[in-house]
Amino acid sequence: MGLTDIESRIRAEEQRQSRAPGSVRLCAISKVQPQERIEAVLEQGHRLFGENKVQEAAGKWPAFRERFDGIELHLVGPLQTNKTRQAIELFDVIQTLDRAKLARTLARLRDETGSCPDLFVQVNTGEETQKAGILPADADAFIAECQGLDLPVIGLMCIPPVDEDPAQHFALLNKIAGRNGLPQLSMGMSADFETAIAQGATLVRVGSAIFGERDYG
Ligand SMILES: *Cc1c(COP(=O)(O)O)cnc(C)c1O
Repeated sequence: MGLTDIESRIRAEEQRQSRAPGSVRLCAISKVQPQERIEAVLEQGHRLFGENKVQEAAGKWPAFRERFDGIELHLVGPLQTNKTRQAIELFDVIQTLDRAKLARTLARLRDETGSCPDLFVQVNTGEETQKAGILPADADAFIAECQGLDLPVIGLMCIPPVDEDPAQHFALLNKIAGRNGLPQLSMGMSADFETAIAQGATLVRVGSAIFGERDYG
């Protein structure tokens, strides 16, 4: 596989679903990947990346930003409140807004610094106890709370349970976004991004299918 292959599969699925060409963006998830694999994808011209840990991103992206223009970096992993300040300095988009305390901290830092990354609310569509995200039943109220704080919430994000058909989870996320007037849907990973596009994804998060398997050893 690799970048070119994934991009052409995205374009093909857009066409199959009668979506506008380029309406689905590819967030390349580079967590744990060795420097040279990331560099190769940057050299190919790709600029949109995601990381799941603040510390890890801090260790590699400032140097890449010095060498490559136009990088857009998204946080796709859980954000501890005490790392919010560091996160807003590093990331252009935070996809994992999942609780009121974090919303209030982001609003306070926005007031202090005058800016805030664009935000996605993470929804725990599978209602899994070990997984982050707001429960579907609480999503409307939480989104309203964030909007009440004037936070730039642009969409929703989900990570479906591994052992279930992801399509129903993507459809649920789409429904919640639609009734709340949110235009962006971050859903779909290496194994199911085409299913996600069929259910309305505007941003897919693909890691191993671009870079190769992650080596946690
Ligand atoms: C790791 C990760 C991905 C990418 O997973 P792959 O299966 O390697 O494509 C997508 N989203 C999140 C939130 C991740 O942590």
